[in-house]
Amino acid sequence: MEKERHVRFLEMMYESIPSDYEGQEINHLTLAYFVVSGLNILNALDRIDKEQVLSWVLSFQVHPINDIDSDSGKFYGFYGSRSIQFLSEDSTKLTHSGGHLASTYCALAVLKTVGYNLLDLDTELILRSMKNLQQHDGSFMPIHSGAEKDLRFVYCAAAICFMLNSWSGMDREKAMEYIQSCQSYDGGFGLVPGSESHGGGTYCAIAALRLMGFLEDDLLSRRKTSPVIKVSLLLEWCLQRQATDGGFQGRANKASDTCYAFWVGGVLRILGAHNLIDRKALLGFLLTCQSKYGGFSKFPKQLPDLYHSYYGFSALSLLEEPGLKPLCVSLGIADIASIGI
Ligand SMILES: [Zn+2]
Repeated sequence: MEKERHVRFLEMMYESIPSDYEGQEINHLTLAYFVVSGLNILNALDRIDKEQVLSWVLSFQVHPINDIDSDSGKFYGFYGSRSIQFLSEDSTKLTHSGGHLASTYCALAVLKTVGYNLLDLDTELILRSMKNLQQHDGSFMPIHSGAEKDLRFVYCAAAICFMLNSWSGMDREKAMEYIQSCQSYDGGFGLVPGSESHGGGTYCAIAALRLMGFLEDDLLSRRKTSPVIKVSLLLEWCLQRQATDGGFQGRANKASDTCYAFWVGGVLRILGAHNLIDRKALLGFLLTCQSKYGGFSKFPKQLPDLYHSYYGFSALSLLEEPGLKPLCVSLGIADIASIGI
């Protein structure tokens, strides 16, 4: 693995992040998560100015205007793009619609990575307002009005509660039931009940169950089963995703793609079955997606992108490549001693 080249690739990305002038729909916090956490996995966090990152991330937090506003139903987490603003009800100024679950997850992950004590945030307000996003079926919407709901946001909510060390932001039982309803007949999980099994959905389901305390660690290596999900079917589904080229596919009959080496490989790691994958073949596939400019592409021999680079580094960490930090798989960041999972 070309580590120094990857570090330089992320450094280049780091320099372009704070600019608000680029593509209007860019989610800054997602990009920051990939860059900062990616550098941490590569053991190169010394390349960034942690204080600067910290205050920049905090500037994306949504604050209530007054006490009445704090009970308005808005989510007081973080938003990802300064360009998504609306006219306030009296049409006098631009305002935000509220926080977004995915941006908030990314913000907390970055803050934790640079060493910020998350309990210094107004965690009570974040969690209380987040609870409004949970739906009757246990799922979550990412923002307080008019949005799709699916497993991705259940995962973000679980990771947020875990990082803030309180489950007051969600009804765990209901969230667990929703996750159960997403397990398909073939053992994988779809993003919503009844949809096709998908690597990303399966990761969100299993990582959330693990964070919520419904799944023990390393179930399979200890020959245990689970009362919550069908583990043996899930194991079979995950193992079948490793294709003949060594890479992992996100769904049956799709091409291998770098990111699923993490999404599906991460599930196998949580289950205690990562030793069942063909390590050498997977490493071979990932190296064909490694760019000479640094970073990883989705498919072999294409240009790299930040998303696939991050999951490429994460997958290599799961494979215990030298020089990379181990992961806290269910939080999607490098292991931090204090995480305790
Ligand atoms: Zn992908």
